[in-house]
Amino acid sequence: MRRLRLLTHIMIGLDRGTPDIHWRQLGELFRITPHLLAALGIGLAAVEPWLHGQIGAVYMALGLIASQLTMRIAGQAAFRRRKDASLTKWTRIFAVVSAASGLFWGLALASLYLGGNSDSQLIVLAVGCGIIQSAAARAFMSPAPMLINIALVMSTVSTAAALEGQWMMAPICAVYFLFQLTYLARLSNLYLNEIQAGCEREIALEQLADANKRLKQANEQLARHALTDGLTGIANRRSFDAVLNAAFDDAGKAEPLSLILLDIDHFKAFNDTHGHQAGDDCLRLVARVITDALADSRYRAARYGGEEFALVLPGADSFEAARFAETLRSVIESVDTSDLAGAPQSISASLGAATRTRADQTPADLVARADRALYRAKQKGRNRVAVDGEGDSASA
Ligand code: GH3
Ligand code: MG
Ligand code: MG
Repeated sequence: MRRLRLLTHIMIGLDRGTPDIHWRQLGELFRITPHLLAALGIGLAAVEPWLHGQIGAVYMALGLIASQLTMRIAGQAAFRRRKDASLTKWTRIFAVVSAASGLFWGLALASLYLGGNSDSQLIVLAVGCGIIQSAAARAFMSPAPMLINIALVMSTVSTAAALEGQWMMAPICAVYFLFQLTYLARLSNLYLNEIQAGCEREIALEQLADANKRLKQANEQLARHALTDGLTGIANRRSFDAVLNAAFDDAGKAEPLSLILLDIDHFKAFNDTHGHQAGDDCLRLVARVITDALADSRYRAARYGGEEFALVLPGADSFEAARFAETLRSVIESVDTSDLAGAPQSISASLGAATRTRADQTPADLVARADRALYRAKQKGRNRVAVDGEGDSASA
């Protein structure tokens, strides 16, 4: 069905590649040069009848030529001055103009043919063949209107020949027309296949682009997942390691660097009492508290594992690290837990902070010192901050 519609479009010249190409071809079809040549040919063919006194026929032919040229000149001018850009409309206008041309040329030739001697009739036929070939050469741009044009020239001339008693002209013209038809049908079919291959190529390219887009999104999502903790949505241990390594390298140059490890107190008991679901919600709650506390700062947080979180504090000395850790501890202690299943009265966390010293050769050294501080905070009763190498900042 689609193929048939395409073929119809091709036959009237509506589907010949891009609109740009179509407009260019229409411009070519509206050009009057071939018509000036045809007029010249018919004019020359009129000399012989004129010399033999067929004045009426010659006037008739010249009148038809003049009308035809006037119509084509007006058509070309209108096409060039066109304001509306409707391809369909101008293709149809061309079809009408082309059919009228076929009739004009055919009638002009027929009027010269009728009553002429065999010499002048031969000249008329030769000029007719030239006109037909000229139309056929341009017919690939708009096959159906051009075929109608050719058919009209041929039928009027062969009718004139029949009236003169030369009946064989009709079958000869029919065969000639069939030649043109099969040739054009073959061209159109080739063009149709080309269009279809182009469409299929376009669809395949679109599908490829779509698949690429989805692959890119999947890769981005994968990359995000690889660095994000599934439960809390904050950075995971892998991301933390990368951030700490990068900060460690930077801090080696000038600024201080601190690290805080945070561990929720008695979390096993929390799970046992309120259930794992509530435990998960509690982890999300603590992650949100930490994220809020980090807002607008260069500090970065990650879920270090289980119910432990780690914070990297570029630019923070031990005093600032202790202050920040204490702020976090106090916010966690007073956070609203009423939304958690079983509505526990409160939660708390212990924090260990360490600031990079010359003795820290690797990020692992800094982590180990923060971990030792955290251990001390637990030992001293939990819900408190311990700073490695300093006295504890007590609380609770
Ligand atoms: P402490 O105060 O000494 O830190 O005691 P604790 O009970 O918090 O420490 P412990 O290491 O004994 O227990 C940690 C618990 O955290 C055990 C484990 O079931 C729980 N946990 C770890 N990851 C998750 C999790 O993703 N969801 C839940 N609900 N619980 C978790
Ligand atoms: Mg723990
Ligand atoms: Mg714990």
